[in-house]
Amino acid sequence: MSEKILTIDGLSVSYGPIQALRNVTLQVNKGEIVAILGANGAGKTTLLQTISGLLKPNAGQIAFQNQNITGWAPEQIVKTHLIHVPEHRQVFSTLTVLDNLYLGAFHHSRKSNKKMIEEDIEKIFSLFPILRERKEQLAGTLSGGQQQMLAIARGVMAKPILLLLDEPTLGLAPIIARDVLSLVKSLKDLFGTTVLLIEQNVVSSLKISDRAYVISHGEIVKSGDAAILLEDKEIKEAYLGQTIH
Ligand code: ATP
Repeated sequence: MSEKILTIDGLSVSYGPIQALRNVTLQVNKGEIVAILGANGAGKTTLLQTISGLLKPNAGQIAFQNQNITGWAPEQIVKTHLIHVPEHRQVFSTLTVLDNLYLGAFHHSRKSNKKMIEEDIEKIFSLFPILRERKEQLAGTLSGGQQQMLAIARGVMAKPILLLLDEPTLGLAPIIARDVLSLVKSLKDLFGTTVLLIEQNVVSSLKISDRAYVISHGEIVKSGDAAILLEDKEIKEAYLGQTIH
């Protein structure tokens, strides 16, 4: 049987009078890429921010590796190796690419020896050769796609057991967006990372995912194997005309 990494049960979250999530139940198994799909304002970012402790739910439970982490502070959650890469590619723009990567390892740098960190950087450079080429360059001078790759790579340096990715293709040209998503798939092969991915690019994210949940107005309205959802009539109708394939 597949090992559950993340289990969310009956989660509800509000911003004052606005209820952003209603009774959300989902799970992520070890080694999976699971996509959360939905339109603007559906509640996707709220979901990730609640998992990583930035928002507190008013009902429901979140368990990570069989431990109830509901209501934990973000700095406690990050220590469990549940790592959140937020939207808008937040890199330290005045630091070099290499220093951004070292900062990603900050939480475990005392436990890990220098050699392990160097090995991780080497693996990252083999996956993202452009970052090796630009390692001494200031992160703020990278292109949008390169900054997104750096943001993901920095998340990987934190040795994630589960990586939460919030819209990694936002604002990228279609061809770059496709590259970023195919790199997300490679993370699983190279680092064994399990990924919970939020995306508006439904077709391209379903292509790299194992399973997906569709969220609308704060509720899960559909879920299943990605390959089956790709053929789903309602999904095809709702997302017809997407530019990235
Ligand atoms: P997008 O793709 O546009 O980022 P999303 O699916 O991530 O959308 P959320 O950002 O989670 O959606 O927003 C869910 C709902 O909660 C929306 O109705 C939004 O207006 C509302 N919301 C989000 N953040 C806040 C906030 N800080 N205060 C009040 N309402 C908020």
